[in-house]
Amino acid sequence: MNVSDSERISTTLAKRGYEMTEDESSADVVIFNTCSVREKAEQKLYTRVGHIRHSDRPKPVVGVMGCVAQLEGETLFKKIEGVDFVLGTQAVGRVADAISRTLAHDLPVADLGDREANYDWTVADVYRHSPYIAFLPIIEGCNKFCTYCIVPFSRGRERSLLASEIVRQVRELRRGGVREVHLIGQNVNSYKPGDDSGLEGFEGRSPFSRLLRAVAATGIERIKFTTSFPRDFNDDIVEAIETNENLCNWVHLPVQSGSSKVLAAMKRGHTIEKYLAKIDRIKSSPKDIALTTDIIVGFPGETEEDFQQTVNMVDYCGFDSAYIFKYSPRPGTPAFTLADDVSPDEKTRRFLELEAVQKRNQANGLRRYLNKVLKVLVERPASRTEGGLTGHSTCHKLINFVCTSDMIGKIVDVKITEVKSNSLFGEIV
Ligand code: SAM
Ligand code: SF4
Repeated sequence: MNVSDSERISTTLAKRGYEMTEDESSADVVIFNTCSVREKAEQKLYTRVGHIRHSDRPKPVVGVMGCVAQLEGETLFKKIEGVDFVLGTQAVGRVADAISRTLAHDLPVADLGDREANYDWTVADVYRHSPYIAFLPIIEGCNKFCTYCIVPFSRGRERSLLASEIVRQVRELRRGGVREVHLIGQNVNSYKPGDDSGLEGFEGRSPFSRLLRAVAATGIERIKFTTSFPRDFNDDIVEAIETNENLCNWVHLPVQSGSSKVLAAMKRGHTIEKYLAKIDRIKSSPKDIALTTDIIVGFPGETEEDFQQTVNMVDYCGFDSAYIFKYSPRPGTPAFTLADDVSPDEKTRRFLELEAVQKRNQANGLRRYLNKVLKVLVERPASRTEGGLTGHSTCHKLINFVCTSDMIGKIVDVKITEVKSNSLFGEIV
């Protein structure tokens, strides 16, 4: 979501005559698009603004956007010396106005207001992270209030875009040469638009599975979506994937814990048995759907037995990859009032143990691709292999291979010849 926000911020600023630079030291305006899901990310902001303040060059205008801006508001001016403007998560469309006001010394500039009704979600081609892949937000905010999570506070309530608008954007992206769209949101499968426009004639129990079919019908070559919320993940989504070639075979379904007791304390809305039943359905698909997840270790009250249930669950599910996080108490969340009773050393031990189990499973799981041919969208030169290129498969695996650079932007068949811990190597066939 933050990458997508940054792409739209660049687009808005370019329209108002600003030029983007990768070189922070020559910038007249530096904007930090922040995340506050864990404390570490927040700390980074404090350090980076400090560096700018202490450097020898004339001080640029410094703006803070994203979740930290939304949560802290004007208090950021007191907390971090050198911040000139603060713009909340729904105020991104007004970034150019914030800069103008700062330059006109109309201080302090803090805008935590709502998104404009006519907000333009499009991204200019040059500011997309790839010319061939587009992120498309379909739902923003979150209503779930998992007890550890700051997102419902920083991003507000769920709001879904109309399917007719999403389909219009996908068609436009396709015409512009985009080959893969990622439908994104905190919980894409909680998608619930205000009305049915754009979904007429598409089957499915949930609006999200109907949206998947509507987007598939545009003929865009590849569609991926992330993140899915387990409680709302039903068979109709798997059925849509199975019956539409361009719906990619990858599901990101964050489990968070293998213990139903911890899941209840997290208020995730699913037990581990219910989660595993969904995994069984995904795994039984003839389409070989890759499965990834997020897990938190060291949530308050997580005992060694709870943790071992997580280890067993990871062994059972055989995730293709997993983001493992140590629990980080976030002020303002319900869990913040609980004693953070798993010590930092113990969190690290659990993290490392789980990581080792996941790595072992991952290596075993990836072997299933050896000698198989995968369809890869060629994205860019590989950073480490000379003459190498890199891209993702439909199952969202990173694939490295050697071929000429005029293949960038094309979808090619790659036969997998070598399996590494996080990526696959192959040759074009
Ligand atoms: N909406 C998605 C879901 O429900 O799974 C995830 C969104 S969240 C931004 C991404 C991940 O960050 C979560 O899945 C969770 O594993 C992790 N996370 C969120 N809050 C956390 C916290 N307080 N401490 C550690 N990890 C956290
Ligand atoms: Fe956070 Fe839970 Fe919402 Fe995901 S579903 S963003 S973890 S509150």
